[in-house]
Amino acid sequence: MNLDKESTILVAGAGGFIGGHIANELIKLGFRSVRGVDIKPFDEWYQIPAGATAIQADLKKLENALEATSDARYVINLAADMGGMGFIENNKALCMLSVLVNTHLLQASVENSVEKFFFSSSACVYAAEHQTEVDAAALKESDAYPAMPEDGYGWEKLFSERMCRHFSEDFGLQTRVARYHNIYGPQGTWIGGREKAPAAICRKVAEAVLTGDKNIDIWGDGLQTRSFTYIDDCVEGTLMLLGSEFSEPINIGSSEMVSINQLVDFVEEIAGVTLHRRYDLGAPKGVRGRNSDNTLIQSVFNWEPSTSLKDGLEVTYRWVYDQISKTLVD
Ligand code: NAD
Repeated sequence: MNLDKESTILVAGAGGFIGGHIANELIKLGFRSVRGVDIKPFDEWYQIPAGATAIQADLKKLENALEATSDARYVINLAADMGGMGFIENNKALCMLSVLVNTHLLQASVENSVEKFFFSSSACVYAAEHQTEVDAAALKESDAYPAMPEDGYGWEKLFSERMCRHFSEDFGLQTRVARYHNIYGPQGTWIGGREKAPAAICRKVAEAVLTGDKNIDIWGDGLQTRSFTYIDDCVEGTLMLLGSEFSEPINIGSSEMVSINQLVDFVEEIAGVTLHRRYDLGAPKGVRGRNSDNTLIQSVFNWEPSTSLKDGLEVTYRWVYDQISKTLVD
């Protein structure tokens, strides 16, 4: 990996799902100065890897961004007010306010002579017109323009991508932008309203197993399609991109597209149950069909996410099941 392990690396949003996994991996890889910052109190961080410095601060504030980036050579920005469809469809202003985090981290990075800056963008930047059918063609990077991203959250991501590009052109900060497609795995949000489909389905199936209530509520008609990317692939792709010379936005997403019904099939199979499905057609559903076109990442890096959905869900289901079991014991 083309990153200096002796230099300070900031993980913004380290208390979150992806941030916790990335900070952990950096420590495992032997990075000596890993600084994690998150707005949440420490007892709400999913992971605080031993050996990392953990700081609680609101990175929407420039003074905190300046302190967080001081002496840092690399910045990985994962801090954002976000969640699954249920959250982003009902909290557009909050999602857009994350622009302050990226703006101030970029400004502070220039001020503190950071060398490389990673921004976690999203498949939500892609124009709606490419995602109207369940069997829509996989999204390639050029499909973000002409722009008509997800309202609120997607506009913030697209604007922040653009800001990365101009900070690079105007100030020489090397920026790297990944468009993540539905990242899932253990040590992430599984309850509370911000959870995404894989964690939500794992929770509902585990609850059915533990309570004996054989009904499951599914948002939409279950035919909508997505691809889901396992966290280990996300971490590997992120560090690979940060260490590279590639400066355009690029998909980090699995190309194994499934319907929500198929996602439920997988989890039911893992749990060994068959549930009665109740479809809530009024619930937030997002776009009709979405998948990741991996032509670009294959051609640049000869790599793409490779964990099968079945394998990733096995681990995720067991973890979510354990979390619920613990709450039942408490
Ligand atoms: P997460 O919610 O688990 O982590 C984000 C973290 O950022 C949280 O711990 C939160 O407390 C922190 N944060 C929010 N505002 C902050 C602030 N003002 N100052 C400091 N910290 C702040 O989400 P995640 O799934 O780990 O996502 C990480 C990044 O990846 C986000 O930018 C998200 O938009 C992006 N992304 C995630 C997915 C996915 O499927 N998980 C998909 C596309 C993009």
